[in-house]
Formats: sequence, C-alpha cells, structure tokens
Amino acid sequence: MTVHKKNSNYAPQITKDTPVQYVKGVGPARARLFERLGVKTIEDLLYYFPWRYEDRKNLKKVSDLSFGNPETTICEVLTAEVVTTPRKKMKIFELTVKDETGFLKCKWFNQPYLERYFKKGQKVILSGIVKGNPYARFGLEMENPDFELVGDEDKFIHTSRIVPVYNATEGISPKQIRTLMFNAVSSYSSLIDEYMPEDIRNRNSLPPMRWAVKEAHFPEECADVSALNGGVSRAHKRLAFNEFFLLETGLALLKRREILEHGISFNVENHLVDEFLKSLPFELTGAQKRIIAEIKSDMRRPLPMNRLVHGDVGCGKTVVALVSMLIAVENGCQACLMAPTELLAEQHFINIHKMVEALGLNVVLLTSSSKGKPFDDISEGRSQLIIGTHALIQEHVKFNNLGLAIIDEQHRFGVVQRATLRRKGFNPDILIMTATPIPRTLAMTLYGDLDISIIDELPKGRKPIITKVFFSSRKDRIIALIKEELSKGRQAYIVYPLIEESEKLDLKSAIEGFEAFKKIFPDKKIGLVHGRIHHDEREAVMSQFKSGGIDILVATTVIEVGIDVPNASLMLIVHAERFGLAQLHQLRGRIGRGGYESYCLLLAYHPFSEEAKRRLKAMEATGDGFKIAEEDLAIRGPGDFFGTRQSGIPELKIANIVRDINVLEAARKEAFALVEAEPDLSRHPLLKETLKKKWMGRLELIKS
Ligand code: ADP
Ligand code: MG
Repeated sequence: MTVHKKNSNYAPQITKDTPVQYVKGVGPARARLFERLGVKTIEDLLYYFPWRYEDRKNLKKVSDLSFGNPETTICEVLTAEVVTTPRKKMKIFELTVKDETGFLKCKWFNQPYLERYFKKGQKVILSGIVKGNPYARFGLEMENPDFELVGDEDKFIHTSRIVPVYNATEGISPKQIRTLMFNAVSSYSSLIDEYMPEDIRNRNSLPPMRWAVKEAHFPEECADVSALNGGVSRAHKRLAFNEFFLLETGLALLKRREILEHGISFNVENHLVDEFLKSLPFELTGAQKRIIAEIKSDMRRPLPMNRLVHGDVGCGKTVVALVSMLIAVENGCQACLMAPTELLAEQHFINIHKMVEALGLNVVLLTSSSKGKPFDDISEGRSQLIIGTHALIQEHVKFNNLGLAIIDEQHRFGVVQRATLRRKGFNPDILIMTATPIPRTLAMTLYGDLDISIIDELPKGRKPIITKVFFSSRKDRIIALIKEELSKGRQAYIVYPLIEESEKLDLKSAIEGFEAFKKIFPDKKIGLVHGRIHHDEREAVMSQFKSGGIDILVATTVIEVGIDVPNASLMLIVHAERFGLAQLHQLRGRIGRGGYESYCLLLAYHPFSEEAKRRLKAMEATGDGFKIAEEDLAIRGPGDFFGTRQSGIPELKIANIVRDINVLEAARKEAFALVEAEPDLSRHPLLKETLKKKWMGRLELIKS
C-alpha cells in the first residue's frame, strides 16, 4: 500500500527567500513580529545576529560572585514574593535563590507581575551587577537582573555553552528567539551563498561563510567570548568583509560606469571666470586655486566629472562652485546648484545673483515655495544659472542643456538623488561640496565612487573662534559678552534647538527667547527666523541681518549651513548639550568669517549625559573640523554618523568602519581589483545577483 500525502501537507520548496513563517517555531503570528525586526525571509533570519554573547559554559557559583561586577549565575528558586514599601507604596518583587554554595536575593521594582514566572525549585539564570552587604545572611543582591528560566531540556541551547542574546521585541523573548534560531541555523545554514570569489577568499584567509554565520549565532566551545562581544571574532570579521566587499564592489561599478561614459569636454580658458575673479574683493587662497585647477582639468576631459570638494566651514567653497558654473555657462550650458534647505538656496541665490549681475547672466531660484515658477525659462534655456533645493530633481523639471550640476552640503543628499540630478542632463559634470568634515575612512566608504579634493586652508586673517561652555547660572556673563560685542558694532546669533515649547523636553523655544531678548536689549533690533516662518519674511529678515539692520538674530538650526554674514562675531547656542557635535561645529562655522575676534558661547543645562559632556569639551578644545569629526565618530559610532541609510548605500549590520578599518581596506582593494579585471562580473553570477539585491536597484538606476 502506498501512502498519499495530501497536497496541503507539502512544505513549500525551501529556499533562502522563503518567508520566515515556514521556519519551525515561527508561524504567521511570529512572522509578523519578526517583520518588525526587519526579518522577512529565511535568509534575513540567518543574518539576524545576536547583539551580545554570554558565557554559560561555566556559570559561577554564588560563593564565587564578586561585588560590583556584572555576573551570571544559575540558581534554584527558593521564595518569590511581592512586598510593598510602607511609605512610598512601591511594589518590589523579591526573589530568593540558592545553589549549593549560598543564597542570592534579587529585586525588581514596580514589576509585581514577575511573581507568576517563578515557582519553588525552578532553575533560573540571572545576570546583573552584584551588590549588597557581604556580612548579612542574604548578603548578595542583584537589582533588576536579566533572567532566563531554564529546564533540564534546555541544555546545549541555553546553557552549558556560549549563548547568543538576541534583541527581542514585544511578544517574543530572547530565549524564544534563541530556540528557533538554533533550529533555523541547523536546518538552513546550507542555504547561505558563498558569492565571494574563491581567490579572494584564499588571499584573505576567509573562513567559509556558512561556518561564519553558524559561529556568529552559536559559537564553538573554544570561541573567545570577549572577541565575540567585541565584534572581532574570526566569524565577525568574515561577515564584515562581505559587507564591505558588497559596498565597495557597488561603488567600484558606479565609478567605472561613469568613467566609461562620454561627458562634455569644456573649454576652460574662460573670460567670464577671469572677469569674475577680478571683481572679487579678495585673493583666492592657495587651496582654492588648487581645487579650481583640479576642477578645470576634470571639466576639460571628455568624461563626466565626479568630484567631491570637501572643506571645513568658511573655507570658501562657494567661489569655487561659481567658477565652475561660469565655465559651464560660457560653454553654452546651464549649470545648477542644489542646496539642502530653502534658506540656504535663497542665500546662495542672493549671493550669486549679486556676484554675477555685472556679467549679465540670468540666475533663477527654484524651491517648492518660490513664486513664479521659472519652469519654461529653465526648459527653454533662458536661465543659465539655476539655484534650488531638491525641487530641482522633481519629475517635471526639465533642463535645456544641463552641463554641470553642483550639490552643496552633500551629506544631506544621497547616491540616489545624485543619480536623479545627473539624469536631468546628458552626463553633466557633477561637483559635490560638503562642509561636514568626514574622517578619511568614512569618506572612502561613502564617496568611494568619487574623486576627492580637500580645501585645507582658511582665507587669510581668520582668527580662531573662542569657544566656551557656560551653565545657566552664568547667564549674566553671557548677556555682558553679547552687549560688549554689539557695542563694537558686531552682530550676534542666538540659536535654539526647537521652535515651540515642548513640555516633555523642557526646551526653551526660539520664540520665547526672541521675546526675552527684546526685553533684555530694548534698544537693539532683534530678528527671528525658523523653519515655519513664511519664506518672504525669512528672506526679509536674513537680508536685514546681512545689511546690519538687525543686531541679534534669534534662530533655530535653519541657519546651520551656508549662511554668511562676516560682521556676526558671536554665537550663543542655547541648550548646547542637546546638539550633536557635527551640528555644533556647523553652527559655529557661521561666525569667525570677518577677521574679528569671535566667540561661540555654549549654554548648557544640567543634567546631561557623559556623551554631551564629551561633545562640549571637544568644542572647547578644537576648531578643526577634522578633529571634531574624528571625535564625533568615536562618540557616536559609525552607525548613525550622519545617516548612512539616507545616503543610499547598503546598510552595514556587522561591520564597523572605525573598528574594522583594516577589513574595509582589504575588501576595498579586492573589490576595485575585481571590477577592474571583470567589469561585467560575468564569471560571478551569484555575486552579481547579491549585489543587485543589496543595492536594491540603485546600481541599475545609475546604469544607462
Ligand atoms: P563655505 O566653504 O563654508 O561655503 P563660503 O564660500 O560661504 O564658505 O565662504 C565664507 C566666506 O569667506 C565668505 O564671506 C566668502 O566671501 C569669504 N571668502 C571666500 N574665499 C575667500 C578668500 N580667498 N579670501 C577671503 N575671503 C574669502
Ligand atoms: Mg557653503
């Protein structure tokens, strides 16, 4: 007799793309929970790595626990009860546990429901800082320890080994994740692709990918827990190598494609430029001259320029941008400049308009709120210089003959926007300008497909800005300093973090500050700008501040980039402890532009974190954007260092640009060599497929 299975009993053919719900122990409900963690397929699940590891091979006995240290022990429950403190009526759940060497008391505050988890005799693993009085009978204590109930059946997955600890979400505990991960890893790790070319693996002594994935979940007995927790185990390094390799291969492909494309060969001997430079009230710095020469040589070549100009705030990038725009215009092309905020686009427009008026050029502004949309002027070529925000890359904006596109403050725009802008013309030259000093390693990663120029010199006569932290008790001193600067004829910025009072964060609002400063300085003109002010009013206020009609400009961080008022010599940043380091540095860059002694006052309110303290210290210690950037990277870690996500490159889950710099360099070398030798990757179909997936079509987008 044969047994016929009903159709519905057939499991679907399992591949790495099979939805996670078909993994044993998952099912539809948990699949939804996993989706929240970004896990949709079996492959996603296999790449959902623990955030830490716990060595449960030799759990400590109670008598061996040491005070003041984080410790993990396995015990048996003796008593479990909720007690209520007499005065504050706080509920404390108290658990007493023991092993053969002693007792341990654990307390959890305001979590009375924990009581139902524990029964006498139940085995439990507890991790926490050991406290208490060593001389009392129940001398050892842990407050709010992590716990995990274990049974004898849990051996091998949850105890007697190095166990992975996963980030959980409501509805599924770390232990449950560990259980199903154990099943998934044992059943499906064979689905993991080895897309890395063999010779690269050999040259870099990379262990097999399947081993690395398994090891990163359930490490072998001999593994080094601290290396695992530091993310520097052999398995982690292999995973990091792969992440970097996919990133760098993508960048190499982008770079190569652009090299192969035909671009415009501009004539760079240019009288518009000469005339413009003659009209400037200053001599270009050596660095500016050098960068202009680099740009000219790019523009002359029949290949599209792809250059990043990287220079600290105030180093004079605008002039450089304008020179290249004038080259494009004299060659009969249009040039555009895209800025990240309306305020900045408006300022650029005003400045550039003024500078080129005498040259008889037609400059227009295009933002989402600018009136009289100049669409026809742009599409029919009457506008030669087009300044705008991301409104420039909207579908319906058509250029007549875009020869050069400049992106200011690049870190706010990503690879995708860059590509969209590029397609507005026929392989126009692209120039990207960023004021955010990026540590070299990060520049290499984020802009690996670009040529990089660095302006490493400030215009002559700049004095270093004096930066000092004040606390709210010294407001009188701050007022006195502002008064002093104003009396010398200088102007001041006062920057607030938010525009409205938020009770929760107790932030002082710009509007409130505006009112307060009007009272403090009744005889001074005070202006206010923030993101919600109508752009006409904003333009009016900015131009008054620029012309000296306003003494104090109260503002939110809308003034962070690009604003240029050389007579402003003082900036007060209120609630400085709440700002990020890069942002503080950007803000500070608004002053010190006029050759006057300048002051940046950071007003901080207690309490603030260790990190905030480090940020404020760094600001006091240095004005060097590169040092600030290194410090910022060190404080924040690369994860959210100005949003790699929005930059359009694949996310790095395991790899860390700072920690794994050697791995990055090795992977980059291999990636660029591979693309050089085999630009179509035809001998590595699996790699090609993986790249497409990781870059989510972004490589396609840039392809012709
Ligand atoms: P950023 O690089 O931050 O965009 P800007 O282009 O706004 O800097 O320039 C900052 C200020 O320095 C402006 O007022 C500009 O006119 C001035 N500037 C630019 N180049 C020079 C120079 N070579 N000598 C003196 N001042 C300069
Ligand atoms: Mg600028």
